[in-house]
Amino acid sequence: MANYFISDSEFIPFVRRMIEGNEVIAPVAKKSKFVFAKLESAEELRLDYDVTILPPKKEFFPPCQKLLEFDCGKFSGCIDPQEKILFGVHFYDIKGLDMTDFLFEERNADMNYLANRNKATVIGSSIQTISERAFWGSVGKEVKAKGHDGFITKIGGGHIYETRTAKGEQLVQFGNFEKAIDAQMSEADRVNQDIMDKCPEKLNYSSKEISEKVRASFSNIGLWEELAHDCFSCGSCNTTCPTCYCFDVQDDWNVDQKTGDRKRYWDSCLTTDFAKISLGAGNTENFRTERGERFRHRFMRKGTYLNEKLGGPACTGCGRCSLACTADIADPVHVYNRIMEA
Ligand code: SF4
Ligand code: SF4
Repeated sequence: MANYFISDSEFIPFVRRMIEGNEVIAPVAKKSKFVFAKLESAEELRLDYDVTILPPKKEFFPPCQKLLEFDCGKFSGCIDPQEKILFGVHFYDIKGLDMTDFLFEERNADMNYLANRNKATVIGSSIQTISERAFWGSVGKEVKAKGHDGFITKIGGGHIYETRTAKGEQLVQFGNFEKAIDAQMSEADRVNQDIMDKCPEKLNYSSKEISEKVRASFSNIGLWEELAHDCFSCGSCNTTCPTCYCFDVQDDWNVDQKTGDRKRYWDSCLTTDFAKISLGAGNTENFRTERGERFRHRFMRKGTYLNEKLGGPACTGCGRCSLACTADIADPVHVYNRIMEA
């Protein structure tokens, strides 16, 4: 598509016009951290954020989502997608959306997710501040971010806006953009390239090496028990992760015992009951009772099982799990480097 430049003085007016009549979800400050939330004013936008508490997948796959309503034997679906602009998404979170798109599209397409996703316009933005536990510069480098409609890069004196699709091109109408010149595009490329070497953490091995070694370590339960020793089984590493997509489905009945609704809630494979199943007649079986088994499952999924489907690890290097883990044991850099060196 096309490449534009917008000056610093024109940027806020552009955002102001964009949020008039559009629902724009973008990074805003929440105390000392950042979240993706509806922009109420252009001044709230914080493109200098490091990482948000939750990834932007929550806009399409919220923590609690009503799937259908029922009344005796009848039911009706609740898919009601709304158009929105998801603005200012870092490239690693675009990769997270790409993975979630793939996983919700394969086999039985999940329309509760896809209907929301397809209505959205996604605009990426360059990283201006690096999170203290980020390692996106060294994980899954073979996989490029795809699912976005435009990309904003901060350069001297303004922003470059690269449109990728017709939906991205639509936003140009809101701002006083001019065609970008070659020198500005070179500067934008440099900005996005240079930051890749600046993450505070680094995986020392390729995705292929990690995938093979992690799979080979499956039976080394002593290692997994050691890595999971301090785990509280709280599930925070799952619920903050852009590529986790497990959910639990529950029916909520009203007091009339005829009507109600069915909802899905984010679920976490690190919690004790995740792998508990019914055997009927009131009997149950839990096939991952030990912390080490649950911890192993998470890292098998991220580093090996999904790697074989996605063409790269199901980890974007965002570092949210490391920030969220009270015990500070969830960091994939520590875990994978430790396994590789074991
Ligand atoms: S495993 Fe951790 S670092 Fe990797 S994508 Fe999930 S939250 Fe981010
Ligand atoms: S966040 Fe840490 S303590 Fe909580 S389940 Fe994950 S690894 Fe365990």
